[in-house]
Amino acid sequence: MKLYSTQHESADVDLQEAIFRGLPPDNGLYMPYEIPSMPASFFESIHTLSLPEIAKAVCKNLLGDDLTDSEIDGIIDSSMTFEAPVVSLEENVGVLELFHGPSMAFKDFGARFMAAIMSHYLVKAKREIRILVATSGDTGGAVAQGFYNTPGISVTILYPTGKVSDIQEKQLTTLGGNVTALEIDGTFDDCQRLVKQAFLDEELRAAFNLASANSINIARLIPQSFYYFAAYAVLRRQGVTKPVVFSVPSGNFGNLSAGLMAYQMGLPIQAFVAACNANHPVPDYLASGNYNPKPSVETISNAMDVGAPSNFIRMRLLAGDAIEQVRKIVKGYDTSDEKTKEIMLDVYQRTGYVMCPHTAVAYDGLTQYALDNPGEYYGVLLSTAHYAKFLPTVESTLGTKVVVPARLAALLDKQKKSIPMGTDFEGFKKYLLL
Ligand SMILES: *Cc1c(COP(=O)(O)O)cnc(C)c1O
Repeated sequence: MKLYSTQHESADVDLQEAIFRGLPPDNGLYMPYEIPSMPASFFESIHTLSLPEIAKAVCKNLLGDDLTDSEIDGIIDSSMTFEAPVVSLEENVGVLELFHGPSMAFKDFGARFMAAIMSHYLVKAKREIRILVATSGDTGGAVAQGFYNTPGISVTILYPTGKVSDIQEKQLTTLGGNVTALEIDGTFDDCQRLVKQAFLDEELRAAFNLASANSINIARLIPQSFYYFAAYAVLRRQGVTKPVVFSVPSGNFGNLSAGLMAYQMGLPIQAFVAACNANHPVPDYLASGNYNPKPSVETISNAMDVGAPSNFIRMRLLAGDAIEQVRKIVKGYDTSDEKTKEIMLDVYQRTGYVMCPHTAVAYDGLTQYALDNPGEYYGVLLSTAHYAKFLPTVESTLGTKVVVPARLAALLDKQKKSIPMGTDFEGFKKYLLL
């Protein structure tokens, strides 16, 4: 895979360099020159394939120049170890449950794949690295779990104080070992800015082999394309032949960009719904043609509280670049907190299904899409997190206690360990150089 920077000032790189650099020096994003289509034979037999089998086939298609078949098999076997079932919710609507991994959110897919591919390269080269990652909640838990006790790798996680749920915070702050959590007195955007700045800082670059684990890393994006194919395979297996619409609850737009990669590889998709909360610069861009990032505002779907989505340019390029092209495949909608709660309650009362606030935003996005686009299709809601990760919101909204998986319940009893820190770069840098 050959990659360029979206700012066009930095040199082209191969997969390995893109993964370890994270961001190109010119502050763009790495993009593959080519995303080759999967062969027709793959789609003819896709209904017979499991998620790991699909992942291996897609990886060989994308990364065949960088890794041997047996290296790819090893990376997939060690990282794609959990299911992504499609649960039927109501007529022509299914929920793609992406929360069956160790941190119970979809970011496990990206984090585990990235850990596996990085450790593959590090073991080969006998190198050590320091991972810096900003999280609005779920990234940190997934990265902490994905990299926990990986030799040669230390992980520093930045999270906004008071803006992640109890369970999310415990996931970030209780592992110990090679994982350190910095509790930043600011917003997610502050955390993200500190990390971006660290990567551009000469002194820090000289002191460490810094690597990123945010959704800006191409190694996070690639594995997220797998489950779009896998969901399609499940639907074909279930006899669904209608066109498919994916509703993607979006913040930084990594997940939706990965879906567009699957689309570029030939997966037949009618549309993607960019389902957003009160942070909706992308739906605004689709409506007006102008992209205006904004400071983030707090919502109950807090993993999507992003005012300046870091993958915006990737999404735009993968969707065809020109606004008319992007509008053909990506449909943007936004949803208020009030509406999100209404949906969580309504779905629960009608079907018994408990969904997290992010999934409810996806539900509302699909409902709005259906009003604008009558016709026959099957809607797939990407369920990005287990509801129990947002327990206070879920229980107060549904007016009832819900079942908490034992794995999450045990976490709440553990002791939090974090290092408090302000939002100024110099303080953060001083800490890193200690
Ligand atoms: C990260 C996250 C999102 C947003 O995904 P992006 O790839 O940043 O758009 C949505 N829901 C949950 C639960 C998340 O953790």
